[in-house]
Amino acid sequence: MCGIIGYLGERNINEVILRGLERLEYRGYDSCGICVVCNGKLEYKKIEGRLHKLKEMLARDPLAGNIGIGHTRWATHGVPNEINAHPQFDCKKNIAVVHNGIIENYHTLRQWLSSRGHQFISDTDTEVIPHLIEEYYHGNFLAAVQHALPLLEGTYGLAIITTYEPNKIFVARRGSPLILGIGTGGEFIVASDATAIIDWTRKVTYLSDDEIVVIEKGNYFITNSKNETIIKDTEEVLMDLAEIEKGGYPHFMLKEIFEQPETITNTLRGRILKDNNQVRLGGLETEIIIDDKKIKAKDYLVNVDRIVISACGTSWHAGLVGEYLLESLARVPTEVEYASELRYRTMIKLPNMAVFVISQSGETADTLAVLRKAKEMGIPVFGIVNVVGSTIARETHAGIYLHCGSEIGVASTKAFTSQVAVLTLLSLFLAQRRNILHDTVRHEIVSALLRIPTQIELILRKKDEIKRIAEKYHTFNNFLYLGRGINFPVALEGALKLKEISYIHAEGYPAAEMKHGPIALIDKNMPVVVIATDTDDIIYEKVLNNIEEVKSRGGNTIIIATEGNTGICRLADEVIYVPKTKDILTPLLNVIPLQLLAYYIAVKRGCDVDKPRHLAKSVTVE
Ligand code: GLU
Repeated sequence: MCGIIGYLGERNINEVILRGLERLEYRGYDSCGICVVCNGKLEYKKIEGRLHKLKEMLARDPLAGNIGIGHTRWATHGVPNEINAHPQFDCKKNIAVVHNGIIENYHTLRQWLSSRGHQFISDTDTEVIPHLIEEYYHGNFLAAVQHALPLLEGTYGLAIITTYEPNKIFVARRGSPLILGIGTGGEFIVASDATAIIDWTRKVTYLSDDEIVVIEKGNYFITNSKNETIIKDTEEVLMDLAEIEKGGYPHFMLKEIFEQPETITNTLRGRILKDNNQVRLGGLETEIIIDDKKIKAKDYLVNVDRIVISACGTSWHAGLVGEYLLESLARVPTEVEYASELRYRTMIKLPNMAVFVISQSGETADTLAVLRKAKEMGIPVFGIVNVVGSTIARETHAGIYLHCGSEIGVASTKAFTSQVAVLTLLSLFLAQRRNILHDTVRHEIVSALLRIPTQIELILRKKDEIKRIAEKYHTFNNFLYLGRGINFPVALEGALKLKEISYIHAEGYPAAEMKHGPIALIDKNMPVVVIATDTDDIIYEKVLNNIEEVKSRGGNTIIIATEGNTGICRLADEVIYVPKTKDILTPLLNVIPLQLLAYYIAVKRGCDVDKPRHLAKSVTVE
């Protein structure tokens, strides 16, 4: 995961690199470092812990130079400490490397390099990279890089500076994101994502795998290990700076929870035609090539007999909601698979199938691997992605963007609701094209969908009530979350939110599965959060029975219920009411109190909500 940055230009190098690392800190934050070329020598500082420590150090003792690199780490190999922090160096400290990714054959390389006299001081996989380049350096640094990179197995985004060619930054990627920003006055900034660049320039080039960029003042060129010349277009990043600031909220997570009325509106904007409530998805208008034939993505999708959704974490939960939606609205048989599993499983290609990959960042390594595997097998792959221009967005045949703005909080919130909103639109679109839903029903669903943002606002107004519940329950060490049908994935998501940011053990279960095991855990120390909306649905009565079972075993119940359902109070220690909507849209509302509950519990426990331990935002390593 981790964030890397490189800068070449006249500005204050400390400021540019620190500001960039601050923006990238959500990607990893167990240690960090900076290195510059100063009077032909490499000068660096690195520390274990958060960026503010490095900032204080540089405020006391700034580095000087016009070329530098920086790193904020999420350790994969070697504990977070100063030695393992990046940059990593060669023996003579002539080469400094910051790396995002994993070098899978580092052990073999390290043994071989050791036998050639290289001495290693860290436990990182990264350290083999500067040593390997050193091994092949015979007067031409680019040639050494070109020789070394093909020997690396695994993934990397790299920024390298060296005393051998002190006026240049060398950059390369395979499997980890990297963007080159082209500033004015001959300056360049390279970073893992655009948030670290847009303070300085909006003109960028997205690098692709196996590309190497050599940057010097006023000039850059792109090549590869075969020394081919690669010409690429530049693009403009449209991201809004205010989007990536906290805007007065104490945490990004809270800001992002409160943004949801607006972000869902943005996700829906322009996709529902006003005159007839038909859904139109611009991303599916793209022409794709299947079996050598050109076809519009939407025309291919209308005839699919099977959809496989693949994703990780919260996106996987959104995928599970999508399975209910696609099957119930559009009648398309759908499977949802963890990307980390599917990438190594036997994937079966059937005629007329489509794979959908879901990823907020568009860089999730396992999800990207599924995308590539499916494409290699000739299966059309579609993306549901937030970050425009990300690797997954670029490599899929076509896709639908979330348009929910930058999500910085490590625990995903607004991306989840936008993913569910997109999957709802997709299901409605396929239903309409396949003539499955009666017009009246579609109109009703669309009208209800358009009311969701206002209804979320109503739930957000209950924040103090949810905070009170959080304060009452924050000392418990275990929670159970129950939901049925389309709200089972919401129970999983509620439990995941609590685990991630408060470090409380929590499990999500389909309510009726409780009696097959988890019921043994129920006692007064096990709060049970039950999603019991869907009052028109047949399974509502069944959920009531499950709540009775919890109560009769002394469990505390926190129930998410539909506004007006006063009867539920007799079964509830706490009730959080949400407005009524169509059953299939309830996940969009029910998840909101669960996000707030997790947030306030974590805050009450003194946890670092935006940077939970051991986690990072965009999981670009396997
Ligand atoms: N594998 C490298 C390390 O453990 C980089 C990890 C990352 O991408 O954050 O230091």
